[in-house]
Parts: sequence; structure tokens; C-alpha cells
Amino acid sequence: MAVSYKTIGLVNTKEMFKRAINGGWAVPAFNFNNLEQLQAIIKASSELKSPVILQVSKGARSYANATLLRYMAEGAVEYAKEIGCKHPEIVLHLDHGDSFELCKNCVDMGFSSVMIDGSSLPYDKNVELTRQVVEYAHKYDVTVEGELGVLAGVEDEVQAEESHYTKPEEVIDFTSKTGVDSLAISIGTSHGAYKFKPEQCTRDPKTGRLVPPPLAFDVLDAIMQKLPGFPIVLHGSSSVPQEYVDIINKYGGKLPDAVGIPEEQLRKAAKSAVCKINIDSDSRLAFTAAVRKTLAEKPAEFDPRKFCGPARDLMEVMYKQKIVDVLGSDNKLAQLD
Ligand SMILES: [Zn+2]
Repeated sequence: MAVSYKTIGLVNTKEMFKRAINGGWAVPAFNFNNLEQLQAIIKASSELKSPVILQVSKGARSYANATLLRYMAEGAVEYAKEIGCKHPEIVLHLDHGDSFELCKNCVDMGFSSVMIDGSSLPYDKNVELTRQVVEYAHKYDVTVEGELGVLAGVEDEVQAEESHYTKPEEVIDFTSKTGVDSLAISIGTSHGAYKFKPEQCTRDPKTGRLVPPPLAFDVLDAIMQKLPGFPIVLHGSSSVPQEYVDIINKYGGKLPDAVGIPEEQLRKAAKSAVCKINIDSDSRLAFTAAVRKTLAEKPAEFDPRKFCGPARDLMEVMYKQKIVDVLGSDNKLAQLD
């Protein structure tokens, strides 16, 4: 039996994207695969009165079970209300849908937004597939994100060796032919915790840390000129906090030269037509840092709540910092009371 997201209290991205573009902020899009991540996301966004996009990837569905994830999202709406957020704006979004069938399945299960990622296909095939998904999703008022350009890095089943920036000359044709509601672009962000190779970076002589190359804001500007006011999405926008990398490495981990996108660049992007910023790796790093530290300091502990609890707390701190300091999405719900 198909279910509409509206009956379970979710919203699509349309209104929040409009407000984000006009207000110069961006909506956080956080991936979740387990209970602790979801609790931390909902607690952070509800307490700070921020709209939020819960992202589910194909990998998350195979890890946690698709049915369970969808009911967790339904539970998240009720949880947000229970902790004092009377009018939460929560989107359940498919991240990197790779086929019409997967997108249709998510629409039928109660997702309020889907991404169809045809960016690795030849241009005409990307247009055709994306249009097919839009035609189906829009019948149910589900919003659709498409993608042009290729991001480097690894994310679940999505991976590419090299990035190819979005071609500004294609964006008008793509958005008008497909009817997508938002467009993910490639301007130098990247999936995973190793966003750049050491040879792409310079090294800070004081700290010895890698300094990544800047994002291609000239490409973003050219895209915004072609599509004034159109919602733009950035994937792969974790900043890979070095404090978490250091904790992981101190307590037996091995993440040499992990590097992300500096937060000041994301802040600058959030003020533009970029209205959705995807952050996944930073949550994984916070979780792992807290688990490694707790288990190293308390080797006799074997109750998962004793190390997943601190992981959840650290993720909540991280999500709140992103909402307030990077995206500026706090106190941006349509109804704040
Ligand atoms: Zn992505």
C-alpha cells in the first residue's frame, strides 16, 4: 500500500528552499543509517528550530532495512514534537537514487523528496531518466533533485576518480527539459573523508596539515547567472574536523591526511543560491572518535549504550555547530512557536 509523506507529517523541500535562498542560509542535509544518528539530528534541529533534510542512501537502505528507516523517519516527526518543536519541517530524502524503480519505491513508501543521480550517464540519458522520475514524483508533490557534473570521492556505491565541474552552459537546458526542483552541482566538493590528494593541497608550515584548494566559486556564479533564484545543492561538504581525526588517530585509528572543505567556504556558499548542503562524513568521524576514545579509556565496558551514547552526544554537538555556524538555519522554521 502506497503512503503519502503528508499523512506522516513530513514536508517536501519547496518552501524551505525558497526561504533559504531569499534569506541567505542553507538547509542541512544529514545522512542517517542508525538510531543514534537520527536521535542526534532531530535533537539538534528541533532545539535550534531548524528545518532539516534526513537523507537515506541506497547503502543505508541495505544496511538498516528500507521499511525500518521509513518508520524511523515517521517516528522522528513525533519525537521532534515531543521535545518541544511543535511545527517541525522534516524532509525524508533519497540520496543518490540510481534508477527510476528505486525513486518510485521511495515515493510510494512516503519519502517527500528524491534525488535521481544520472550524472555519470551521457547528457541525453541523464535528461531522459531525470524527466521520468520528475513526472512520477510530481504527481505526488514529491520534490526531485538532479545532478550535473561529477564529484570525486567515494560515498556508498557512488564513486569517481576525478571530478568534472558542472558546465554552466548546460544548466538551463537540463532544468527546463527535466523539470527538477533543485540541482546538485560539482564545483570542487567531494565525497568521503579524503576529499583531496596531498598533491592537490598545500601544507601549512606551522601545523603540517593539508590546506585544500578553494571551491570554484566562478563556476557557481556562472550557474547562478543562468538560473537566477534556482535552488542549488552541494554534495560532499563535510569539513573533516581535525580534532576528530586526531582523537581517532590517538586511540588506534589510522586516518592519515584526511581533509575536507573549510567551513568558511561553505558559509560563503550558504549565503548564495546554494540552499542544501550535504554533510555525512563529519557525523561518521564524530561517532568513531567518541567510540574509540570511550572504549580505549574504559576497556571493561561492553554495554553498547555506554559507547554509542557518547557518540550520539558528540554528533549532536557537531550538528548544532553546523546549523548555527555554517548553514545559518537556526530559528528558520516557518512557525517558530
Ligand atoms: Zn552525494
